[in-house]
Amino acid sequence: MKVFSGVCASPGLVIAPLRRLYRASPTLSRIIEEPHQERARLEASLALAREELQNLEDTAGDQGSKDIFFFQSCLLEDEGFLDDLQACIEDGAGAACAVEQTGRKNADRLRALQDNEYMQLRAADILDACRRVVDILDGRPHRKPSLDHPVILACEMLLPSDLVNGANGMIRGAVTVQGSPQSHAAIIARSMGIPGIVRLGPDFLEDCDGHIAILDGDVGTLTLDPTPEARQDAVRRICAAQAKTDTLDAVRALPCRTRDGQPFTLWANCFGPEDISAALDAGAAGVGLVRSEYLLMQGGAPDEQAQTDFYAACLKAAGGAPVTVRTFDVGADMTTRPLADPEPNPELGLRGIRFCLAHPDLFEAQLCALLRAGHEGPLSVVLPMISCTEDWARTMSCVEHAKNSLRRRGIPFAEDLAFGITLETPAACLEASLFPPLGCRFFVLGLNDLVQYTHAADRNVSLLSPYYQTGSPAIRRLIAMSVEAASAANIPISANGLALEKPEISLMCLLQGIHQFSLTAQHILTVKQALVSADSGTLARVTSVM
Ligand code: PEP
Ligand code: MG
Repeated sequence: MKVFSGVCASPGLVIAPLRRLYRASPTLSRIIEEPHQERARLEASLALAREELQNLEDTAGDQGSKDIFFFQSCLLEDEGFLDDLQACIEDGAGAACAVEQTGRKNADRLRALQDNEYMQLRAADILDACRRVVDILDGRPHRKPSLDHPVILACEMLLPSDLVNGANGMIRGAVTVQGSPQSHAAIIARSMGIPGIVRLGPDFLEDCDGHIAILDGDVGTLTLDPTPEARQDAVRRICAAQAKTDTLDAVRALPCRTRDGQPFTLWANCFGPEDISAALDAGAAGVGLVRSEYLLMQGGAPDEQAQTDFYAACLKAAGGAPVTVRTFDVGADMTTRPLADPEPNPELGLRGIRFCLAHPDLFEAQLCALLRAGHEGPLSVVLPMISCTEDWARTMSCVEHAKNSLRRRGIPFAEDLAFGITLETPAACLEASLFPPLGCRFFVLGLNDLVQYTHAADRNVSLLSPYYQTGSPAIRRLIAMSVEAASAANIPISANGLALEKPEISLMCLLQGIHQFSLTAQHILTVKQALVSADSGTLARVTSVM
């Protein structure tokens, strides 16, 4: 028995034989045709690869995975990338070789961006998309590893399609020599519930094929050739985890109250109508956040009518439960950054409401659509990155402008649509009390950003995680000020952010007077379990050790 340690990338415990994944090497027997023929072959294979990626996007289980395949398909349409391919073919390369060279060059370029971990990780997507095209050009069927029994995949580095192509649920775990928990492959592993560990070092790969292993994604260990006792212990823990799932089912039926009777509400963060009903099934009482900027990733802003239909469809999927839509939070994240002008530091730039105020036509279409959809059901609208009252005032003039436009056109809308703000900068928390007198109807604490801006620690850079402190005294003081401002004005305050997935952070917020939480659907029941079994004693204990 030998134990290897790495970095946790996807939680869970599994016992299965390892299956080493070998990447196919370039085909030696490629015959290079005339450039115009190579160009034609390239065009056809790019089209087929994009079609495959579209299928993967359509069938992916969650929005995060869909976005990854959408991102890869965009790469294959990128003008600069296509120009590079053409140049290689002009220089006499065959289509497959051109794709390999260009893919490697672009991936290396991203990897070289030392201070941009996110872009470095995206290099894997370029390689994955290019490998798909090369496989088509080389006439290799897009291989699903033929697996007839459950395995733990082992390889140097995992690419997103390695997991998606290994159909039939036979991939029970994944371990890699390199990689990062933020990689797209890790995101997909988490969304598929496949436990995973990265950065295990090269030694375990030697002669691992077929050996039994225990992968513990919660602590980041791979136990190769476990003893009978270690295997028994793993099986016992797997069964206990199973029972926990049954307990969670029972939790679903319980009322949302702590042991000493404090009520709370759990909402879900959703991307659109497709995942809203799943979130309600998982126990959500409504939708606390629709990240509307994902609408823009489909290549530009949908028009007012299309957006009205989208927001109305969200309300319909929620079946009468409340839905809060966040106006476009464009700018900081990679997916929407191409829409904004290049900035030296986008996190501190023209993101969120600042971007919308700088693009009045885009914003007006969204506001008109929200006002119209608000006529159909319990909709409210939250404004991201408001950090001063001037931006609130400017936003409210845009709302008035949108209302006047709808009046002129004789279109019915929700005259009294509720607008609130996300408290995600220290400035907004410190000045929170100034907003309700100006018409702000609710607050949403955005912990992801509030922690990043308070502690000056980029949320995407894992090196900075020691500084990214969600339960710090500074954050608790900002939460306390926000809660006080909400209660003085008698308006609701809810909390949002990945940190809430840790029950101790939800408990901390509850102790501080927040009773509404919005989470990803898969964490609703675990957080509910922690909250229903807490009382004021538990709450005090949790926060005293922070
Ligand atoms: C937040 O900042 O906590 C939040 C929910 O917004 P996002 O993660 O989309 O920036
Ligand atoms: Mg935010």
